[in-house]
Amino acid sequence: MIIQGGCLCGSVRFEITGQLYDTHHCHCSMCRRHHGAAFSTSARLNPDEFSWLSGEDLVKVYESSPGIGWGFCSECGSSLVGTDNGEIVLVTLGTIDGDPGTRADSHIFTGSKAEWHDITDNVPQFKERSNTG
Ligand SMILES: [Zn+2]
Ligand SMILES: [Zn+2]
Repeated sequence: MIIQGGCLCGSVRFEITGQLYDTHHCHCSMCRRHHGAAFSTSARLNPDEFSWLSGEDLVKVYESSPGIGWGFCSECGSSLVGTDNGEIVLVTLGTIDGDPGTRADSHIFTGSKAEWHDITDNVPQFKERSNTG
């Protein structure tokens, strides 16, 4: 499966040549700020299957703690990837073109979710991490 995606301004494009997995809605306060939304939706990937197609030089990585990075387009601000010690381990589902071939299987960090947002679906909820991390 080949999955492609990109940022709002179109400068940054990427490709994933494999399956996404462990797709989750994260309600932690950091995701809320990074996305400017009630929660973020992202999926894990095999770092070897990820490649930038264009605009890699525009991708800035903010480290919230040593080794834990949040990659975004410095031109338009789109939240793109999560990094762990420089490796791309997460992709934001909202930046993917079309159907990413995966569905969220958990809400995580619901213990810190936004007070103004109610979860109304039947996807399992975890106060912190899910069992799969
Ligand atoms: Zn952009
Ligand atoms: Zn989070």
